[in-house]
Amino acid sequence: MTPIDLRSLFPDEIKEILLSHGYASYRAGQISAWLQKGALSFDEMTNLSKKQRNELSSIFTLSSMQRVEKICSNLDETTKYLFTLPDGETVESVMLSYEYGYTVCLSTQVGCKMGCSFCASTKAGFVRNLSAGEILLQMIEITRDQQKTKPRFRIGHVVLMGIGEPLDNYDQVLRFIRLCHSKEGFGISYRNISLSTCGIIPQIERLMEEDLPITLSVSLHASNSALRSKLMPVNLRYPLPDLMQVCHRYVEKTKRKISFEYAVMQGVNDNDTCADELIALLAVPLFHLNLIPVNPTRETGFKPASKKSLSHFCHRLTQGKVNVTVRRTLGADIDAACGQLRRNKQLQKFPGELAK
Ligand code: SAH
Repeated sequence: MTPIDLRSLFPDEIKEILLSHGYASYRAGQISAWLQKGALSFDEMTNLSKKQRNELSSIFTLSSMQRVEKICSNLDETTKYLFTLPDGETVESVMLSYEYGYTVCLSTQVGCKMGCSFCASTKAGFVRNLSAGEILLQMIEITRDQQKTKPRFRIGHVVLMGIGEPLDNYDQVLRFIRLCHSKEGFGISYRNISLSTCGIIPQIERLMEEDLPITLSVSLHASNSALRSKLMPVNLRYPLPDLMQVCHRYVEKTKRKISFEYAVMQGVNDNDTCADELIALLAVPLFHLNLIPVNPTRETGFKPASKKSLSHFCHRLTQGKVNVTVRRTLGADIDAACGQLRRNKQLQKFPGELAK
């Protein structure tokens, strides 16, 4: 049996496994307390004997990661982190500061299979899923680092909008959400956790049945199915009309709003016809549209819409009764868009890849 990541387990699961190995039940409490403190190795668990710590490491693994890069924005408090995992893979996370508190944007996979044409995360393909513990660890590491200068630092919101498609790693992501919410975890309210998906319909249906009041974001980026298929290959499998149908069912069932993400790309999806198509799709009270000027990455060639055309586009949508906001871009000076830091690091190592 492959050892399980201890950090991905709930306290009662840890207890059950330990009891089956003949441990007294209070040991489980001690171990959970170490996890809560963010222990990075079994050796830190000094109230267990050396023999027990050795044995534990044959039953469990304990996820760990090392910070290899930290970039602070000069424009705002945005801080971007690049972490290395023990298998040498890297993931990135971002800390953002809003009026309502600190938000972290976390990765759920190493790389991504989805192939969206504007996104840096997918350019080097998919490597593996992250465990729930590895997703949680990004929060632990960011908190530890931020508390060095801000002792009262506390994460208020979590957005699963880093590298990867959360619904393509469904079980570990759901486990993460529940761990992050638990009092032994970070005690984050479900309402303050957002999950963003490119639109994997069966998994949205599954999520609907979980009855978790998290916030769902759907990456739309196109106002009709033909354009969406060009930008996002996932649309070939789960076309826009079907996606919209499931979104309607989602809001009916959960009574929670859906936030649609739309990266505005000059000359691609920012004309009046697109605005009118969006009005037909989204003028629904529980639907919200977030316009984001596309973040130009080195490899994609997309340009953000100009301020003027963005404001015209936004005005037309408002007239059409769409709840729309233009998202403030934080960390614009530090490659804060999804997957850019990891990709740039890869390209530094293997510059030839850019030519592919
Ligand atoms: N796979 C998930 C979550 C990760 S991406 C999803 O697709 O929703 C988080 C968001 O950033 C998505 O809306 C994604 O489409 C968007 N994004 C990716 N690259 C971008 C870029 N270059 N500019 C603007 N938004 C981008």
